[in-house]
Amino acid sequence: MSTLQFSNSPLSSISLSASPSTFRLLGATLRLPAKLRPSFALTTVYTDKKINSLKSQSLLRISCSAAGSEADVVVKEKSVSVILLAGGKGKRMGASMPKQYLPLLGQPIALYSFYTFSKMPEVKEIVVVCDPSYQDVFEDAKDGIHVDVKFALPGKERQDSVYSGLEAIDVNSELVCIHDSARPLVLTSDITMVLKDGKRIGAAVLGVPAKATIKEANSESFVVKTLDRKTLWEMQTPQVIEPGLLKKGFELVNREGLEVTDDVSIVEHLKHPVYITEGSYTNIKVTTPDDLLLAERILNPED
Ligand code: C5P
Repeated sequence: MSTLQFSNSPLSSISLSASPSTFRLLGATLRLPAKLRPSFALTTVYTDKKINSLKSQSLLRISCSAAGSEADVVVKEKSVSVILLAGGKGKRMGASMPKQYLPLLGQPIALYSFYTFSKMPEVKEIVVVCDPSYQDVFEDAKDGIHVDVKFALPGKERQDSVYSGLEAIDVNSELVCIHDSARPLVLTSDITMVLKDGKRIGAAVLGVPAKATIKEANSESFVVKTLDRKTLWEMQTPQVIEPGLLKKGFELVNREGLEVTDDVSIVEHLKHPVYITEGSYTNIKVTTPDDLLLAERILNPED
């Protein structure tokens, strides 16, 4: 490892290291798995005096979770069933076909994440929930991919489609990974992280910290309060849940007629913890024509 020293103050020095595999922090050596290693790392080397002033609970907690949690979890090969939701009608796009089948740089939106999941070793199967008239979109894309592809019928609401997909998954699956096919740009690295968190906690969802100021209003449109942005996250997909937990959640929700806004809220009703894995702002849901242009820009920033 080569290191460039930038400064050498009495309290600390900062160095830029090429491909480090370990970090020194508060006297401990943290080893980074190959996947998580940055090509360069900006490291602050603290003297003893500085360390004493830094030994706060929060710093210790952050370093422990980075080294000891997600990195230790192994999601086995072929242990994940993906439910790819493509059963919506997508009226807000104003197009003649549902938004997930519109072409994005010449390829139907739904095929982007279909291909992304199909290349992941953890994935055993993809259950595509779609209207039978659109099955050929996926049938035609099946050649040369190494996961099983199944189909399930969509339901009236998104949750009904999730339930339909859940009934079709392999009984031996350890995790179910539910994804909106209208999110074509999800990154493999983010999926890998949320799968690990799902395995570790039982339920995890990709999300990003809210950028906007969000206010609660009453039915007459008067502000009730401004919510604390630091605690707000925008939810994305995939949402990753143990199949048994999701089934139990559906039983409870159906029995008690509870309101469900997304897949993990079914699990929240069981009082089971749900972890938010920080994802990427580029994992947009293509809902309106503007989103389609933005997705093109993200894929092709040069144009
Ligand atoms: O309508 P919305 O954008 O929330 O839909 C999210 C995803 O769920 C889309 O990929 C859509 O195709 C899917 N969906 C579904 N069945 C429904 C409604 C939505 O598969 N009944």
